[in-house]
Amino acid sequence: MKTNIKIRAVLIASVACSSAAFSQQSMGDWPQHSRERPLPTVVTPGAPALPVPPPADAIVLFDGTSLARWEDGKGGPAKWKLIAGGAMEVAPGTGGIQTRDGYGDAQLHVEWMSPTPAHGKDQDRGNSGVFLMGKFEVQVLDSYHNVTYADGQAASIYGQYPPLVNVSRKPGEWQSYDIVFHRPRFDAAGKLLKPARFTILHNGVLVQDDVEPVGPTANMRRPPYEAGPDRLPIGLQDHEHPVRFRNIWIRDLERK
Ligand code: MG
Repeated sequence: MKTNIKIRAVLIASVACSSAAFSQQSMGDWPQHSRERPLPTVVTPGAPALPVPPPADAIVLFDGTSLARWEDGKGGPAKWKLIAGGAMEVAPGTGGIQTRDGYGDAQLHVEWMSPTPAHGKDQDRGNSGVFLMGKFEVQVLDSYHNVTYADGQAASIYGQYPPLVNVSRKPGEWQSYDIVFHRPRFDAAGKLLKPARFTILHNGVLVQDDVEPVGPTANMRRPPYEAGPDRLPIGLQDHEHPVRFRNIWIRDLERK
């Protein structure tokens, strides 16, 4: 009997231990956009291996030839530029673009490039963004030798989670995001049951490890979740910088 209690105690301790060991990346107690917050360690990524071809069950959102799967957010055609070589470029001032279709849980691959030569600094340098469900921004920024606040650099969940490391490539070099996203869940009355979740690889390196946003993205504030549709478009941000994108594909994890 005594032995059983001992075993149980050991089991409980080991469960507590493993849940601590695998606990989620913390948002910490730092104020939003704090410049005192330590910056992620710089890690040089491995040799480029892009583009990554889409698997057979992926929906290709952009193959370099057409913006047909994108719109301007008001139902009109996307106004960004198609660039020779199979890329699109933000047409500054024309507004963000979004997919014509909505998605919930998804695996999303995006390749992007910061403008070269680099202009500006801090947030005013190669800024764009990938918005899951049009609400949760994975920041796109030229974070190569460009200091900004930790929760606003490339591969941050903007205003919430800095990336685990800064694995940015130089302006003019293609970079990749591989994003695994789970949408928030609500009950019938609109009460939040489960927050959204992100796991992200930047240039093949883990930068967000199953993090839970505290709500949709906003600048200088952290608004709460609000119940809404299960599927919403993926957005790309016009932050007035000519950032380029190519080879965007998605695996719809909720497709029946
Ligand atoms: Mg942005």
